[in-house]
Amino acid sequence: MGKTVLVTGASAGIGKATAIYLAQNGYNVYGAARRIKKMEDLKGYGIKPISLDVTSEESLAKCVTQILGEAGSIDILVNNAGSGYYGALEDMSISDAKYQMEVNVFGVARLIQLVLPTMRKNNFGKIVNISSVGGKVTLPMGGWYHASKFAIEGLSDALRKEVKSFGIDVIVIEPGGTKSEMIGLGTDYLMKVSGETSYGQLAKAVSKMYAKIEKDAAEPIVIAKLIKEGIEAKTPKTRYAGASGAKVMLFFRKILSDKQFDKMVMSKMN
Ligand code: NDP
Repeated sequence: MGKTVLVTGASAGIGKATAIYLAQNGYNVYGAARRIKKMEDLKGYGIKPISLDVTSEESLAKCVTQILGEAGSIDILVNNAGSGYYGALEDMSISDAKYQMEVNVFGVARLIQLVLPTMRKNNFGKIVNISSVGGKVTLPMGGWYHASKFAIEGLSDALRKEVKSFGIDVIVIEPGGTKSEMIGLGTDYLMKVSGETSYGQLAKAVSKMYAKIEKDAAEPIVIAKLIKEGIEAKTPKTRYAGASGAKVMLFFRKILSDKQFDKMVMSKMN
């Protein structure tokens, strides 16, 4: 049996594709999410579905204890579970913003804390954090989503230096537009919180832009392949970017000033 992998958010999108792809390539895969029924099909690939809510300490601890009990180790953690709720900063409630940070940041960090003792003991581990192109560039209405992904970028950079001497690699994945449930859920929420406020017009423009991103989105297997490349590299890169628009956006972010980049983004809103 190959290395043991825990993929969070395995009930849909990138997480499901990654769990399947890694299982097909010989890994011993555990797929975790809240909707256990949506992971029934994973059993056919030899994947073990586990119920997990990354905002619950009890659920996180139970999930890790079960895998360590059955497999003895979690060699690779793919921190993929995430949510993308958009809305103008003025409109979005702080409690919804906190929930987004609970899922996208604190859930990720707590899971890392839970897997590190065994990884350190084994002097081996790969921690893959799914960030986003949105961890480097921003669109209006995405403040809290971007804040969560910028946080993942910073946490990962610091962690990489902390755990290197224990034989553990930290790998950041920066997807661009990828087919999943996230964009639809996120824009529904956007129109609910900002569609009828002073930001209504911008909300409609952003929503239209996301509809275009969704239409051009890459298949999640593109990201699954990047993850496999990262975990199998002898010396992994710190970051892997892929899927629709990812490299172009990161390139422009690098070469343009903040204001030039703002102008470019806002010129696409109509
Ligand atoms: P989906 O919405 O399709 O999948 C999200 C997954 O996260 C689901 O399996 C969901 O499972 C799980 N999840 C959400 N909340 C929780 C929770 N509280 N506890 C446990 N699991 C949870 O989105 P994607 O596949 O697109 O998203 C995967 C990652 O990729 C995210 O981190 C996202 O930010 C990132 N990303 C996606 C992009 C895209 O264009 N799609 C672009 C850039 C980054 P369940 O509801 O069953 O719990």
